[in-house]
Amino acid sequence: MHIARNRVVRFAYTLTDDKTQVLDRSGEGEPLTYLHGGGAIIPGLEAALEGKRAGESFNVRVAAVDAYGERDDDLVQSVPRDMFEDDDAVKVGMQFETSDDDGETRVVTVTGADADNVTVDGNHPLAGMPLNFAVTIVEVRDASTEELRHGHVHGPGGHPHD
Ligand code: ZN
Repeated sequence: MHIARNRVVRFAYTLTDDKTQVLDRSGEGEPLTYLHGGGAIIPGLEAALEGKRAGESFNVRVAAVDAYGERDDDLVQSVPRDMFEDDDAVKVGMQFETSDDDGETRVVTVTGADADNVTVDGNHPLAGMPLNFAVTIVEVRDASTEELRHGHVHGPGGHPHD
């Protein structure tokens, strides 16, 4: 069975940057599971998976625009340190969840901090970067009607319903 819209795909992957540094990988025996065709994974990787079959392995380089997008310098802001609840503990590399005026949540990363101000970057940490994936497809199956109704995968690696 090949990968197509409304099929459930399980795949193992290693993600590297252009300097072959590993940024992320699926855990040993824990492939990523997703519902194909719904934008659950980055568009460039979803497009590369289309039509492939279980057992196949391939490498793909995804441009930033088809991954986490280009960087937006407007998302880098300097804010007063005392805006943070536990302001003494704020350090470079920490991440916070914020919500903007529209109620959209966004993860920001602290990229600079001095006595008075903290620089936060609302870009995705992988924004502006081409991403290299080494992929092995573990399983391809049809989604159940319930999965299609929910728009996500059930079972191992799927959506955890309470
Ligand atoms: Zn569900």
